[in-house]
Amino acid sequence: MNKLAPIDLARMANVEHRKVTNGLSEAADALENIKEKELWRWLGCSSFSGYCKSIGRTYSWGYKLIRSGEVQKSIPESVLPNQAAALAMSKIPLPQRKQVIQSVMDSGEKLTAQSIKSAVPLPNRVQIKDGTGFPVPQEIAATWLRAKDASEEIAESISKVMKLLEKANENRDPLFAEIDYQADMAKLSMLRQDLKTIKPHAVCLDCNGLMRESCKVCNGRGFISQFFYEYKIPQNKKDIREG
Ligand SMILES: [Zn+2]
Repeated sequence: MNKLAPIDLARMANVEHRKVTNGLSEAADALENIKEKELWRWLGCSSFSGYCKSIGRTYSWGYKLIRSGEVQKSIPESVLPNQAAALAMSKIPLPQRKQVIQSVMDSGEKLTAQSIKSAVPLPNRVQIKDGTGFPVPQEIAATWLRAKDASEEIAESISKVMKLLEKANENRDPLFAEIDYQADMAKLSMLRQDLKTIKPHAVCLDCNGLMRESCKVCNGRGFISQFFYEYKIPQNKKDIREG
C-alpha cells in the first residue's frame, strides 16, 4: 500500500529511476523501491517487468540486482563491483563472508566473482588453521600436512641420536671415545633448530597459498616457517594478517 501522495510518488519514481540508470551502487535499493512501491506506474509502465523492459533489461536482471543489494548490505564494509561478484558472495554462508573477503584482500586480488569463488573453503573438509589463526587453503592442505609430518619425523630422528650420545656419555662407553660430546650435542641441537624451518607455521603472506608456483617468498610451498614469519616478514604485513 502506498501512503504517499501521488505527486510524491511521481517524484520518488523519477529519483529512483535515475539511480537505477546511473550505476550499480545505489541501483539495487532504487530498483527494490520501484518494485515494492509499484513506482513503475509513475514511469509509464504497466508492471515491474515492463519497467525492466523499458530500460533494456529483463525481469530476471531486476530480481538478481535486488538480490545483489541484499548481499551487499550483509557486508557493508566492502564494495561488490557487480552482480557476478554478488552472486558468488550470495552462495557463501553469512558468517564466512568476512573471512572470504579478508582472504581475497590478503591475496592482493580485487573482489571479483572469480577471486571470491577461489577463496571459499571447500565444504565437508576439516579446516586447518595456521599458527596465526589463518585458514590453510585446501590447495595447499596436503603439502602442509606432509611438511608437518616430515618436520616431526626429522625432529624425532635427531632427538634419538642425541639420546644415544647422552646415554653413551653417561656410561662412558669406549665406542664413543673419540667424539667431542659437548661439541656434537651442540651441533645436533643447532641442526634440529635449523631443520625446524621445514615445519609449516603460516600460510604465505605473499601468495596466500593460492599462487604458490611462482612465489619467490615461500618457494612454491604456499607457507612459511615460524622463523621466516618472525624475522623475514615486514611488520605491516603481519599486522594485516593478525588483524
Ligand atoms: Zn608464497
